[in-house]
Amino acid sequence: MSHACKLAAGNWKMNGLRADLEEARALAKAYPKPDCGVLLCPPATLISAMAEALSGSAVMVGGQDCHASAAGAHTGDISARMLADSGARQVILGHSERRADHGETSTLVAAKAMAAHEAGLVSIICVGETESERDAGQTLEVVLGQLAESLPAGATAANTVVAYEPVWAIGTGRTPTLDQIAQVHDALRAQLPDKAISLLYGGSVKPGNAAEIFAIGNVDGALVGGASLKAADFGAIIAALEAA
Ligand code: PEP
Repeated sequence: MSHACKLAAGNWKMNGLRADLEEARALAKAYPKPDCGVLLCPPATLISAMAEALSGSAVMVGGQDCHASAAGAHTGDISARMLADSGARQVILGHSERRADHGETSTLVAAKAMAAHEAGLVSIICVGETESERDAGQTLEVVLGQLAESLPAGATAANTVVAYEPVWAIGTGRTPTLDQIAQVHDALRAQLPDKAISLLYGGSVKPGNAAEIFAIGNVDGALVGGASLKAADFGAIIAALEAA
């Protein structure tokens, strides 16, 4: 574990209705003073209600995407300032599902991160290789290339977190070996403009594998999808991070 801040970030993706705020409340109750940052990123429709439900607790709320512009004629989009106004403090950017489903490029991700920073949000910038890129031996080239293009000017540990998420490990129950994760995180750390930027691993992190992943030197926490939906599962991952 490096000296960067530890963070357990949950990505609810397109899941969650008001009734599911109960899970967020249960998490906040179970971890009143966590020894690491704890963040939940619900769909945009729940940000404000979740921020209210978690007010006064240690659990932060974040968004899953924002537009690169501050305001304007962009039907269906949400600006970073709107996220902040709704109670978000962080925003996930460049998730592989957005890169794949919405054709987001690293250049666009950098523009969104700039907008997020201007609105006072911390950006969580995602990078990761596809399975065919890994099989072709291109993993480091791909993730380092994405990092170089996705980080905006002025990225520091105060406004930026980086998440390494192999595309083939997301939602599949498959993970790289611990050595493979270590190799990518070491390479990412070496390329960071501010070495104190937190580096999260994401891709099928569960209560059963969290501790061994958090024992890797340059892993500062996790970006968690499926296992963040239930307070019991996410809580076990938080406990593993606290103990790391
Ligand atoms: C994610 O969505 O960022 C993710 C890592 O998902 P999962 O934990 O479900 O693999």
